[in-house]
Amino acid sequence: MDREIRAILASVIHPETEENLVDGGFVDSITATDEKITVALRFRKSRDPFAIKIKNRVEQLITELYPDATVTIFIKQVDNSTSKRKEQIEQMHKNTTTSTVAKVVAIASGKGGVGKSTVTSNLAVALAKEGYKVGVLDADIYGPSQSKMFGVEGYLPDAVQVDGQDYIVPAEVENIKIISIAMFIRPTDALLWRGTMANSALRQLIHQTMWGELDYLLIDLPPGTGDIHLSIISELKIDGAVIVSTPQQVAVADVVRGVEMFRNPNVNIPVLGVIENMAWFTPAELPNNRYYIFGQGGAARYAESAGVDLLGQIPIIQAIMEGSDSGKPAVWSVSEVEKHYRQAAQKVVEKLMKEC
Ligand code: ADP
Repeated sequence: MDREIRAILASVIHPETEENLVDGGFVDSITATDEKITVALRFRKSRDPFAIKIKNRVEQLITELYPDATVTIFIKQVDNSTSKRKEQIEQMHKNTTTSTVAKVVAIASGKGGVGKSTVTSNLAVALAKEGYKVGVLDADIYGPSQSKMFGVEGYLPDAVQVDGQDYIVPAEVENIKIISIAMFIRPTDALLWRGTMANSALRQLIHQTMWGELDYLLIDLPPGTGDIHLSIISELKIDGAVIVSTPQQVAVADVVRGVEMFRNPNVNIPVLGVIENMAWFTPAELPNNRYYIFGQGGAARYAESAGVDLLGQIPIIQAIMEGSDSGKPAVWSVSEVEKHYRQAAQKVVEKLMKEC
């Protein structure tokens, strides 16, 4: 099977270098079974203008030959950007005040159910795929779901002592470190955990988790804007906030409150931008149609009017929901989802670089 896939790759020519993908060294790895084919491509330029076109062509050709397999083609980070990236990361770590964690990003939403937790987990995977060291802190006391999203439900964190200090060991999935308030409470007790108890538990998670060295720590905040947000925000030096919303007017109205909270002079956290989730739906049998189930572009319009960046628009995709339910964020394996999140992750990285 590898040989057939290699033959396909050898039939695709890079328009600029005029080499085929195999001889030109564009193939990083091939893993193939009857059910699943994954090909990693590597381009010499960090933003090769033909990369996406070539990726799509390869995907199409392999899918034509193996229609029953799940085909994933992804582009690996190029080598010549590695040193630049290393420099950027070193610079980030120099600017940090949160020990070994370079940048802390809060993921917020005006209301529940808009996909904030789903966006957090998929963004974490997208950043990890870009080569960053990533951690996720699930501070959503109203509905902690990161353990489920990463398939580590039931994980009981160990406590360790280092130099006389107590630390909590986070779960780790594919290099992403995860700690959640749900690892410390039974779901049935969650309601009792509001208020001071939740605050002190969160404070412990924030300060005592053994993250090691991280480039990005994503915090899944509880939905809404309230006291708990202010206390989390004041515990951690948050470098930027991403606000998730669906396009619906009622959801957008809550985004306004979220932006105001972060921009409040006492809080003063840069709003990196808005991610519009569930922006549209495209049925598989009508790939060119977009159905704007929750209205069209509401969050996008708000972002423009409030001078906030639109970091991405994520459509409704069944694989996203399935990934969350099965403990494997879809960015890992579904190229269409990865495409959307990679763009959003790159925008988050760029915005953070500018803000600091
Ligand atoms: P929140 O954290 O804002 O309460 P969740 O992340 O738990 O929301 O998402 C709510 C539900 O919507 C989940 O079942 C999730 O799988 C699903 N979901 C979120 N975003 C998408 C999407 N873009 N496409 C399909 N399903 C989605």
